[in-house]
Amino acid sequence: VELSCHGGRVVLGRVLRAVVAAGARPAGPGEFTLRAFLNGRMDLAQAEAVQELIAAESELGARVAAEQLSGRLSRVVGGLRDGLVEALAEIEAAIDFPDEDIDVTDQDALLVRLRALRTETRSLLETFEEGRRVREGVHVVIAGRPNVGKSSLMNALLDEERAIVTAEPGTTRDVLRESLIYQGVALTIADTAGIRAPRGAAETEGVRRSREALAQADLVLFVLDGSAPLDESDRQIAAGLAGRPVIAVLNKSDLPPRANVIELGQGLAPECVVQTSALKKTGLHELKEAVVERAWPSGLPHHGGVLVTQARHRAALVRAEAALGRTADIVEDGAGLELAAVEAREALDALGEIIGAVTTDDILNTIFSKFCIGK
Ligand code: GDP
Repeated sequence: VELSCHGGRVVLGRVLRAVVAAGARPAGPGEFTLRAFLNGRMDLAQAEAVQELIAAESELGARVAAEQLSGRLSRVVGGLRDGLVEALAEIEAAIDFPDEDIDVTDQDALLVRLRALRTETRSLLETFEEGRRVREGVHVVIAGRPNVGKSSLMNALLDEERAIVTAEPGTTRDVLRESLIYQGVALTIADTAGIRAPRGAAETEGVRRSREALAQADLVLFVLDGSAPLDESDRQIAAGLAGRPVIAVLNKSDLPPRANVIELGQGLAPECVVQTSALKKTGLHELKEAVVERAWPSGLPHHGGVLVTQARHRAALVRAEAALGRTADIVEDGAGLELAAVEAREALDALGEIIGAVTTDDILNTIFSKFCIGK
């Protein structure tokens, strides 16, 4: 029964009380989606996509969630399971009829199949990093010595006054984090305290947090004052960033250029150097463009690709991949097929957890308690 009534509080309140008096109760968090799952209208990965879609903060995040909701991930996982069920059937047949020894060609074919399943599982697993960037946004950290214009740049990028800008070095004592959406992609930008020998406890803590933020960054914007020759602290920071994905930002481009990035000795490719003026707000578009390009070198995830976005799915795939590896090893060694069957079943269970073919109340509670009420 669907009741539709006028929106006034009094009427709604009375209708609700009457309905509850007649035996109805309010829905719990995610109850409608849970029911859809329990009644077989969608599988667990699809049910989780409902929540992911609601929580999506970027166009791209929403699109990937919608694709998961349509069952794309489920079909890939389902395909893996089908292949594994066939392999398991062969293993079990060989166990049940030990006299008709599984011959060498069959064993080779089985091995090829198991290894292919493992490779496929691994490729799926490898999409998680990209999936995380879609879901959480690309973690960009702004680093550089004091007074090069980090806070100004962050403000200019966000197009609003968020960080405190001052002409005194060492005033940003905390890590500020803000998100912006560019081309449908979420970028989380963190401005770090100027990395230098700190004066005072607040700055020491700031520098510690800066280092932590740097460690977690997908990409570092290494800001330099383009209007001054590079100095020792620039070079020290550059050395500390070696091997990290970096874009060198030559800021203050409204002033005569005096910095030479070649001196950094990082072998920075030209596409990794961007000139900006946080003051005059120039070069910002190019910078955001460079960030997206560095974060997705082979282009944004295209329509139709499958991405693993959830840690739960990733954990299950890690287990499946490991168990598939053990299954193949046992078959290859020709050692106890019973053991191979146990491992194959472990892989099958792990894959089943993703789509909810195998669930426990614990798993369901954890998933659906995160939903909003009535969804
Ligand atoms: P931070 O310590 O690296 O965060 O640097 P701030 O953002 O606090 O900027 C330090 C000083 O440089 C301030 O006086 C800014 O106004 C100035 N500044 C920042 N960006 C630019 C720029 O693009 N051009 C010029 N001319 N000055 C800038």
